[in-house]
Amino acid sequence: MLNTQIIKTDGISIDYNDLNMAAKIIREGGLVVFPTETVYGLGGDATNASAAKKIYAAKGRPSDNPLIIHIAKPEDAEKYAFTSEVYYKLAKSFMPGPLTVILPKKDIIPFSVTGGLDSVAVRCPSHPIASKLIEATGVPLAAPSANLSGKPSPTCARHVIEDLCGRVDAIIDGGDSEIGLESTIVKLDGDSLTLLRPGAITADALRCVCASVTIAPAVLEQLREDERPLSPGMKYKHYAPTVPFVLIDGERERVIEFLKSEQKSKKCAILCYHEDMALLDNQNIIDVGNADNLESQAHILFTALRDADSFGVDIIYAHLPPKDGIGLALYNRMIRAAAHTVIKV
Ligand code: AMP
Ligand code: MG
Repeated sequence: MLNTQIIKTDGISIDYNDLNMAAKIIREGGLVVFPTETVYGLGGDATNASAAKKIYAAKGRPSDNPLIIHIAKPEDAEKYAFTSEVYYKLAKSFMPGPLTVILPKKDIIPFSVTGGLDSVAVRCPSHPIASKLIEATGVPLAAPSANLSGKPSPTCARHVIEDLCGRVDAIIDGGDSEIGLESTIVKLDGDSLTLLRPGAITADALRCVCASVTIAPAVLEQLREDERPLSPGMKYKHYAPTVPFVLIDGERERVIEFLKSEQKSKKCAILCYHEDMALLDNQNIIDVGNADNLESQAHILFTALRDADSFGVDIIYAHLPPKDGIGLALYNRMIRAAAHTVIKV
């Protein structure tokens, strides 16, 4: 059991001594959780195979599920991967920011970071504390989401403390994550892009830079047991509360009627649109924002799942989200948290 240090910040800047202490921990092979604009990351030195092993152990993550490496500037990718013209086109439009690009890896990145693959996932976060930490360590940070494997990704320090206190050397508290869902992941194949994981950089935004964008089947559908996803992480159960999570698909009024009757017969929690709050019994309901505000729903989703799970209910319900814009990312996370359970009303 490690004595985890909690480092407080104002969410934008970090004390100089705290920054140097965190950077030293990472350079010496330790683990530091840090805030990013997407979710919190569990960071270790991406050039150090034993640090990578510690990351997998701290999360309880299967070692064939590769880690994303975080860099301070898009051009730093040159040191760790083979870049291309399309990489720089994407970088110009979306970096620093919530976009991860899969590139062929160079030898300096150990196979323990890439789950044995000869490609590496590269991201340049825009969060000022993340950037400062990467610069101060002088190495790329291998950083998966800072949750225990299978749990919803953490979007505030409280979630990280719940999951990883005693399992990491330090946690930098940077307040609430701005976006609340993990980065968009794309794989480059010549001039074409495959979207492996949707996020705040939407498929339409990618199409403005690259004419050919294909959405990988695992984004929307459940893979068969024998199918191999392009992104190994897509095959694992993820984001799941401990009780069943069920999505309801149908017209708003019918969904409300269904939820009202469920509230009478079951101990249930509901992730509810703001406008519908007054229509339901107010026990165990969580306001996720207006029906048309998908950014708010994305921002709140992981907190709502953790909170609903702590109510001691038997089942959690939510609306099935639309699939456009950031809705695709929301849909992808929710359908997997629900293990593809959808009730049509
Ligand atoms: P997380 O670290 O929790 O944000 O998850 C990282 C995601 O990136 C997982 O779904 C991985 O499978 C995916 N990923 C990382 N590296 C690669 C790679 N080289 N090829 C394909 N997917 C990757
Ligand atoms: Mg994760």
